[in-house]
Amino acid sequence: MIQRSTVEIIAAKRDGQELSTDEIQRVVAGLLSGSVADYQMTALLMAAFFRGMSDAETVALTEAMLRSGKVLDLSSVPGVKVDKHSTGGVGDKVSIALAPLVAACGAPVPMVSGRGLGHTGGTLDKLEAIPGFRTDLSTEDFISVVRDVGTCMIGQTKDVAPADKKIYALRDVTATVECIPLIVASILSKKLAEGIDALVLDVKVGSGAFMKDEARARELATALVRVGQRAGKNVVARLTDMNTPLGVAVGNANETAEALELLHGRGPDDLREITMQLCAEMLVLAKRADDEKSALKSLQNAIDSGAAVAVMEKMIAAQHGDPKVAGNPALLEIAKERIDVTADRAGFVTRADALAIGRAAVAMGAGRARAEDVVDPTVGISVLAKPGDRVERGQPLAALHVRKRDASIEERVKAAYVIEDAAPPARSLFIGRIT
Ligand code: URA
Repeated sequence: MIQRSTVEIIAAKRDGQELSTDEIQRVVAGLLSGSVADYQMTALLMAAFFRGMSDAETVALTEAMLRSGKVLDLSSVPGVKVDKHSTGGVGDKVSIALAPLVAACGAPVPMVSGRGLGHTGGTLDKLEAIPGFRTDLSTEDFISVVRDVGTCMIGQTKDVAPADKKIYALRDVTATVECIPLIVASILSKKLAEGIDALVLDVKVGSGAFMKDEARARELATALVRVGQRAGKNVVARLTDMNTPLGVAVGNANETAEALELLHGRGPDDLREITMQLCAEMLVLAKRADDEKSALKSLQNAIDSGAAVAVMEKMIAAQHGDPKVAGNPALLEIAKERIDVTADRAGFVTRADALAIGRAAVAMGAGRARAEDVVDPTVGISVLAKPGDRVERGQPLAALHVRKRDASIEERVKAAYVIEDAAPPARSLFIGRIT
């Protein structure tokens, strides 16, 4: 068969044809070697944006991006290796409690996490609030910590899916980020590079999420599950609400402290519920539990017995951090000055907008406006009132933990809240499950 040239491949996608696995592999390899120009790749990405991609094409793109870098060999770690990926939200510190909990129940969790992106926080920034904690371990150290402790949480190394890095940068500046097959290949190529057997996806829906509406989030979750399964992995997705921040803390040190509280059986209900549900999905996929009920029982035992805290202590020590923080989360430094944002009227909170609160946290210094910015781990927001809560005039809705007072941040947080006479309809955190 005649091999189509890059221009012919672009024309084929432009005209709505399906590309072969070989063609997709050649384009991705060519992009990295320089034989495919950036402008040709962006034309192809735009064609994919309008014409879509079949599951077979998305699998081929995922595999090509995955194979562009190193895939970890975790064969020396016994058991079914399982991870969780969240599409990102505000106050989403679930991973920090989930990894030691699942590991304490016997399933190894190799976790490669990201930094804050836009108004959403990142697990690495939160973990680095622990004094001395390092997220830049070598691949060899990462594998040995997963083997010895049960879990390890690091950042993406430059050897992981370099093609994704290049393609993502092109998408970012050519308005082709919001394309479901491209998002699926981007997320899965990085996650599969961890050498996992199973993956639980937490696809967030709402104002603070990447996907604002349920239909699009469902489409993304379905595509992620289908393509992940075609790549030979066991994958389950949950759709969860992200109209309001998760838990109370938004920031870095305060979020890590709140996640660690869960390991002691404390912490906010919504955070506990979502963490336990996602952990239970992981234990079932990892064949450490027969069903959700027995998984939840094992998880509760890991909390009650102190096993989850012990795993966290070991993981922090192995990653050069202060392990005492696991037993005493209050050791984490939070900015001293507290400013309350109060209710202007009595009534029911009907909105505590995740996007507005996330942006306020970034403006305080808890996130980055530009990639090179340094985050301040000590600053953050406590979201004290949530939709459905009854508040009185003058009651604190949120508390800002700051180094320096800034009236514009107080205004932003106040504007995130809506208070009305009637209570809003109860809304579930869990919107759907896709298998
Ligand atoms: N996160 C990713 O890693 N890639 C995307 O394309 C979108 C979100």
